Amino acid sequence: MRISVVGAGIWGLASAYACTLRGDEVTVFEAGTIGCGASGGIVGALAPLVPDQWNPKKQFQFDSLHSAANFWAEVDKTSGQRSGYGRIGRVQPLQRERAKELAVARAEESRTLWQGKYQWTLQPRPDLIAPETAPLGVIHDTLSARIFPAQAARSLAKACVARGVSILEHHPVESISSGGISGAFGRVNSDAVILSAGYEGFRMMAPYVPLHENTGVKGQAALLDADLAGQPQVYAGGVYVIPHANGTVAIGSTSETSWDYPEPDEKLDAVIAQARAIVPALAGAPVLQRWAGIRPKARRRDPMVGKLPELDHVFTVSGAFKIGFGLAHSLGEVMARMIRDEPYSIPESFTVEWHMAGG
Ligand SMILES: Cc1cc2nc3c(=O)[nH]c(=O)nc-3n(C[C@H](O)[C@H](O)[C@H](O)COP(=O)(O)OP(=O)(O)OC[C@H]3O[C@@H](n4cnc5c(N)ncnc54)[C@H](O)[C@@H]3O)c2cc1C
Repeated sequence: MRISVVGAGIWGLASAYACTLRGDEVTVFEAGTIGCGASGGIVGALAPLVPDQWNPKKQFQFDSLHSAANFWAEVDKTSGQRSGYGRIGRVQPLQRERAKELAVARAEESRTLWQGKYQWTLQPRPDLIAPETAPLGVIHDTLSARIFPAQAARSLAKACVARGVSILEHHPVESISSGGISGAFGRVNSDAVILSAGYEGFRMMAPYVPLHENTGVKGQAALLDADLAGQPQVYAGGVYVIPHANGTVAIGSTSETSWDYPEPDEKLDAVIAQARAIVPALAGAPVLQRWAGIRPKARRRDPMVGKLPELDHVFTVSGAFKIGFGLAHSLGEVMARMIRDEPYSIPESFTVEWHMAGG
């Protein structure tokens, strides 16, 4: 099959990779450069939803987080680069009795829901965490992993090219129609179009899926010069602290539904201060980078995956929002199946129809 992918973010690249592994002739059209959207970031938490009230979405995410290790090992082997993937686990400080009670119940549930493959346990506060942050200890889970988003996008792009994908940077797509795309480069016909153009992609599909407000949620993050190798990631009070493999630590993130410009600003200072209070080892660590990106959000929080109404052979995988990296390879595989009408399975809340019906 001849496939046109719109957007070289992590979802477009994962779709391109899955298709090329099946022998498709894949071209990725990217308006800017590889990973220039939300996927060029620095945080990269691959963390599970809580192990209780199980549903198809939690199962899909669990399966995806489980299979991510093999996927990224294969990608890095093919590209010869490093995605920064590592299953380092996560700690979440406990401050309230009620949170501790819930954690105890979830520890019990995780034994069956996580099939004995990973643990969710209560532990004493590790030295990494400030005493006042975790008066009741921490939850430690062994399923969480991290990746370095910008590196992962580069590694996956290189692996795509090694497998025969053409990636055309500075090739903005202006419109989509049945079986084709158009831009300054002319019209390109394909057996399938996969639209994965991040938050801007919603404008392109507006004639078929009415445009909603807040397609883009701004997030800001910082990269610090601190080596916490061997430590788990920390999630506390909405802030992530991610020890990367390269001697840096990422801190994130703000979540801004209304914003005027896509650059970092003073809102990031509060996140950095909060992270330093939670992990005192970061107190004097220099800030290497301040970064902001726009998370693509569909009509609801969940991804929106499927054929676009009224168009033939045009599909979308959009709305990666806050969990894009954990689901990328699984949804890439779904796209490869969907476009050739093979069986696939996604939660109902991921379908285009569900989003259009208002969730
Ligand atoms: C601060 C911050 C922290 C985050 N932390 C995490 C985290 O810890 N874990 C996690 O999993 N996720 C996290 N995310 C979310 C994650 O980055 C996104 O879910 C993911 O990168 C989205 O990937 P995407 O491919 O859908 O979109 P994007 O990466 O935005 O890619 C879309 C691409 O399409 C291109 N494009 C747009 N319009 C056109 C056009 N007309 N023609 C051609 N190309 C076009 C863009 O240039 C862009 O390269 C975070 C995001 C932010 C901002």
